[in-house]
Amino acid sequence: MRAKVNQDINISDYSGVWVISEQNMGKLHNVTLELIGEGRKLADKINKELSVVVLGYKISEIVKLLEEYPVNNIICIDRPELENYNTDIYASCINSTIKDMKPEIVLFGATSIGRDLAPRVSAKVGTGLTADCTSLEIDEADGKLLQTRPAFGGNLMATIICPKNRPQMSTVRPGVMQKALKSSEKTAKVITPEIDSKILVSKVIFENLVVNDKPRVNLQDAKIIVSGGRGLKTPEGFKLIDELADVLGGVVGASRAAVDSGWIDHSHQVGQTGTTVRPDLYIACGISGAIQHLAGMSESKTIVAINSDPNAPIFKICDYGIVGDLYKIIPELIDLAKSNK
Ligand SMILES: Cc1cc2nc3c(=O)[nH]c(=O)nc-3n(C[C@H](O)[C@H](O)[C@H](O)COP(=O)(O)OP(=O)(O)OC[C@H]3O[C@@H](n4cnc5c(N)ncnc54)[C@H](O)[C@@H]3O)c2cc1C
Repeated sequence: MRAKVNQDINISDYSGVWVISEQNMGKLHNVTLELIGEGRKLADKINKELSVVVLGYKISEIVKLLEEYPVNNIICIDRPELENYNTDIYASCINSTIKDMKPEIVLFGATSIGRDLAPRVSAKVGTGLTADCTSLEIDEADGKLLQTRPAFGGNLMATIICPKNRPQMSTVRPGVMQKALKSSEKTAKVITPEIDSKILVSKVIFENLVVNDKPRVNLQDAKIIVSGGRGLKTPEGFKLIDELADVLGGVVGASRAAVDSGWIDHSHQVGQTGTTVRPDLYIACGISGAIQHLAGMSESKTIVAINSDPNAPIFKICDYGIVGDLYKIIPELIDLAKSNK
């Protein structure tokens, strides 16, 4: 969606950093804490306040939780119409609050909801949006937000600025930024902005919420990840990956090639179009190390690569490399791990 550029603004009227929080059925999404961590750093650099915006219905518990983090303001919009996520109403409420309070930076999580909501808000406000950022900095020279994201299929990193419009808006990939730590004192002010009831109507009618009860793999919080790629050659290869992950107490990841081959569900995919992870230990088995895969795992503390090709790019970034056939090496690792238990 292309935003209609707002020509009549005075940039100096805009101040402060906002994080649009995401909560679902009373549970705060991890990305909100990551955005608070990053937002705090940005706000401190420009010497401005950090506010977190929370929308929903009966959300006092979420507000209480947010009060424990280092934010200056909690902007709380608590209305029955916001009980279930609705793009129209959520975007209208955020748009109206941005127009009233004029933040200079607004951050969303690049989650399914954030990716749906942020473009609508940017179009309504009339400003730009940089999607899927992996790094945010403040330009020392002029205080502008430098928004970096992969471009051209991840082959280069582009840094984007929003020079003429405000707010500067980004979505940020979950799992990339460090989560904020709780602060020792609660100093946040709770603000409840006026919302015109005319904007609380939508063309979309909420019928029913269907909860996906399939167990989801939690790659983002995993301390150990064992990932398999096209080098496994068959879907059965994941049984071996599963066994190694199990014996190490880790979870199973995958490259996109393995997912696209239909060997494993997309929820296991690590990388630019999958999940970004930063475990203590990442074991890449039969994965070449394409830039789009590295974009999702290169922040892991220790990387071990098993690959039969000594020239595979993954060996350039790993801490420990094992050249050889994964079908010989993984069973040995499993035996070793079992004997050390
Ligand atoms: C826009 C875009 C987004 C993308 N997003 C992602 C993403 O999120 N995640 C992702 O992973 N990719 C992504 N890709 C795809 C990426 O470019 C690569 O194609 C993919 O990562 C390759 O997966 P692979 O390493 O499993 O397969 P390959 O590149 O085919 O590598 C297989 C490796 O297995 C090794 N091997 C073979 N047999 C054995 C054996 N017996 N023992 C040990 N090693 C063996 C080979 O030497 C080889 O290095 C994206 C691409 C694009 C264009």
